[in-house]
Amino acid sequence: MKAAVVPQVAGRWQVKEWPTPKAGPNQVVIKIGASGLCYTDVHITLGHIPTRFPRVLGHEPVGEIVEVGPGVTSRKIADRVGVGWVQRGCGRCEWCLRGKKELCANAVSTGIGLEGSHAEYMVAYADATMLIPDRLSYEQAAPIFCAGYTVWSGFRFADPKPHERVAVVGIGGLGHLALQYAKAAGFETIAITRSKDKGEMIRELGADAVVENGEKLLAAGGADILLATSNSWSATADAMKGMRPDGRVMLMGVSPEPLNYPLELMFKRVRLIGSSQNGVEYLYEALDYAAQGKVKVMAETYKLDEIERAYDRVAGGQVRFRAVITPN
Ligand SMILES: [Zn+2]
Ligand SMILES: [Zn+2]
Repeated sequence: MKAAVVPQVAGRWQVKEWPTPKAGPNQVVIKIGASGLCYTDVHITLGHIPTRFPRVLGHEPVGEIVEVGPGVTSRKIADRVGVGWVQRGCGRCEWCLRGKKELCANAVSTGIGLEGSHAEYMVAYADATMLIPDRLSYEQAAPIFCAGYTVWSGFRFADPKPHERVAVVGIGGLGHLALQYAKAAGFETIAITRSKDKGEMIRELGADAVVENGEKLLAAGGADILLATSNSWSATADAMKGMRPDGRVMLMGVSPEPLNYPLELMFKRVRLIGSSQNGVEYLYEALDYAAQGKVKVMAETYKLDEIERAYDRVAGGQVRFRAVITPN
């Protein structure tokens, strides 16, 4: 088969021949229908998240099951499925025993412990696959498996209450979905961005207001929940100035700099909460909103042969707002 192979740390991605995977016990082979290119793929390529090279990356896979391995009972040929980041835990540590495999230190992840989805075929553990709603296209479904799952998990983990106000800082691959999810759930939603050219687009996505910074957010009434999807902690720290008392800041971005916590937030009892993908029920809900058309991924689509160009646009922060790879 063809696959996008990363030869070594910081190496150029190359589309080339690669062994077609076979399904082992409890595994399935998926013929990839679409594969989202997440900024985390850039981190892995650059060695910020360790893996073994050469490696095929990609952890937003969707497609059709074409082979089922021994012992698989709940999936069959032609099922439309996707796979999340963490496929399985060790099964033996405290967090696995608590049913929270996403917290296992020895978890097996898509495109890290197993080959990823920027290829024609991918193998996955059957239990790690999620059936995709019939009316959701592959292109719309793929980014939900990391970006959509992450932001909806963060929103749910913030324990939103009726009448609360939600703000989103960092309107990109995650943030444009976070806005739509908060709105789909019925909450007043405010976008924080310094890019003036994004304003109109952000309103079309459903934001009730667009403000430039945390001070303007506070002046506009503030936020009880801040979905911090920015890859800049200085932007997140600035946005926190707009928090209301007892607010929750949900950290979902990745930034190399330290995060500065403004002192006044201590007196306002504002909580800082880390969040990633907090359990498969949130993936189910995230896909369902997308299937209902209440959340639409804005994506640039590239053929597998064009993946280097897609990578460059994601790495350079130019993509609006997500890149999706489809078969040649
Ligand atoms: Zn991702
Ligand atoms: Zn474990």
